[in-house]
Amino acid sequence: MMSYEQQRLLALKQLNLLDTPPSESFDRITRMASQLFNLPIAAVSLTDHDRQWFKSRVGVDHCEIPRLKACCGEVADLSDMLVVNDLLESDVYRESVLAESGIRFYAGAPLLTRDGFTLGAMCVLGNEPRQISDQERAALRDLASMVMAQIEMQHAFGRIDPLTGLPNRSQFAEDLEDLARDEPGGDRFALFTDLIDLAQITAVQRTLGPTFVDTLARSAALHLQLSLPGGARIYSVSPCQFVHLLPSSDEHAALAFASRVREGLAGLAPDETAAMLIRPAVGVAPFRLGEANAESVLRIAHGACQDARQDETGVGLYSSELDACHRRRFTLLRDFRAALASPSQLRLDYQPRVAMATGACVGVEALIRWEHPALGAISPAEFIPLVEQTQLARPLTAWVIRAALEQAATWRRSGIGLCISINITAANLEEEDFAVRLLGALDEHGLPVTAIELELTESALISNGPLARRQLGLLAAAGVRAAIDDFGTGYSSLSYLQEIAAQVVKIDRSFIMRLSEQARSQTLVRSMVTMAHDLGYSVVAEGVETQAVYDLLRSLGCDEAQGYLMSPPLRAHLFEDWLATGW
Ligand code: C2E
Ligand code: MG
Ligand code: MG
Repeated sequence: MMSYEQQRLLALKQLNLLDTPPSESFDRITRMASQLFNLPIAAVSLTDHDRQWFKSRVGVDHCEIPRLKACCGEVADLSDMLVVNDLLESDVYRESVLAESGIRFYAGAPLLTRDGFTLGAMCVLGNEPRQISDQERAALRDLASMVMAQIEMQHAFGRIDPLTGLPNRSQFAEDLEDLARDEPGGDRFALFTDLIDLAQITAVQRTLGPTFVDTLARSAALHLQLSLPGGARIYSVSPCQFVHLLPSSDEHAALAFASRVREGLAGLAPDETAAMLIRPAVGVAPFRLGEANAESVLRIAHGACQDARQDETGVGLYSSELDACHRRRFTLLRDFRAALASPSQLRLDYQPRVAMATGACVGVEALIRWEHPALGAISPAEFIPLVEQTQLARPLTAWVIRAALEQAATWRRSGIGLCISINITAANLEEEDFAVRLLGALDEHGLPVTAIELELTESALISNGPLARRQLGLLAAAGVRAAIDDFGTGYSSLSYLQEIAAQVVKIDRSFIMRLSEQARSQTLVRSMVTMAHDLGYSVVAEGVETQAVYDLLRSLGCDEAQGYLMSPPLRAHLFEDWLATGW
């Protein structure tokens, strides 16, 4: 248990007043005190551990004096008013710093917080001995109350959300610290309530008007306050997002409570349109007091809430696996930018493609490899889908193209004239100058357009309809070939095949792997090959791992094969060895 003095010092510290610059709102009270008493000196004096520090002062130059033998210090100790009519007559203060500097009279009223801690004194001082009337005593107490009102107002400011009137994130952080001090190691649940899906907020404002969200936030705040057990505090952490703590009983009880909160909030929608747009979600995150700071509690609780959104119940418990997965994604994305700039983290490996009729290597696919400095090798299957969604899609492909063209130029100089297939993403086809830059780069490296082929997935081609068609059209007109990658996985209409300027389809590995066991797969692949041929495409099978599959594909009329049977993707020099020996 903390002593009164420890608690008092803590209360003072939490107000963040010590050593702050002078402020007019306090100075005007001090000036008034000096005038009212017709005394040269007045101050708002705060009692720190070993000093009196003046938040505001008139008639004194220094801004602090030692606490020892300071009258204000006694006010703090007594928590009561202190009047010393003549310091030289007082045994305590005759030899004090104040008396030595010529002060004879002192009157100070305690600066008392609501919780009963005296922060210091509102004081007036004079160079002559003096009496004080009852009226003057009352006036000094009033001035002290005015100082406290000012302190409390300043403190509340920045801790209250003006829209809902609820304590905000800063207050949450402070309260959490207090709780952790009172009950270190105590278990709690943080419930994070989100009223509207962030992605929907604009739609809501457009449909229901800008003030609708404000009104909704206010009534949700009220509803939450009413539904919480007595004494529980609810915080508004951002517009339409609230947090509160529950003592940890069991998870099921917390989730059941979260469900009730969610239903209650859903019921606030004034009509059907609003009900469609407002979709509250509540995330429940367990944590231990003192082990997690406000930032991390809010982070995991918010995460739980976001995950809860994906769940149809709209309520969910924090999952460390999901969280770790999000964090890994975040780390990868953050670090990929550095990887692009680093000379050693990224490289291209090359996997041969062979003509089925002869078994001869007719090309290679360039496949990116990332050696993360801390996490080791990261599969492109993991990071490409993340990077593709961001601004980094463009520099990624630029990097791959540059590396592939350099390799192509090197190989050509040593007599290896193989076509290199380069994977590009949907976003690249939205770059208006993509085709022009690619053709320029080929030119710079002195390479013919047949030195490369582009691979695009079905979904990239479909999602980008007209834009993709334009860029591909330009490239096709210049003679650059394109392949439809992962063919068969797009679940889309095949009619687009007629419109896309591609020459090759690469049947996805998932169909090829099952080929030798499943009759259905054979039927599927047979019809894919036939149809592709009818439309004038050349057909490549991906993921050929066994001789049996190879032979089957050959009998089905497939043109080329790629897969571990021939070779896995290899570093450039190892590929050269492979090429020299054959398979
Ligand atoms: P993808 O373009 O379909 O590439 C073929 C993937 O199948 C490669 O995986 C390759 O290593 C793997 N593979 C080849 N033969 C076999 C086999 O016989 N068995 C099995 N199980 N797998 C085989 P990888 O290198 O992990 O790349 C995964 C995907 O990442 C690629 O699929 C492609 O979509 C993407 N990717 C790779 N490099 C790049 C790149 O430079 N740029 C872009 N945009 N995407 C890339
Ligand atoms: Mg590919
Ligand atoms: Mg593929």
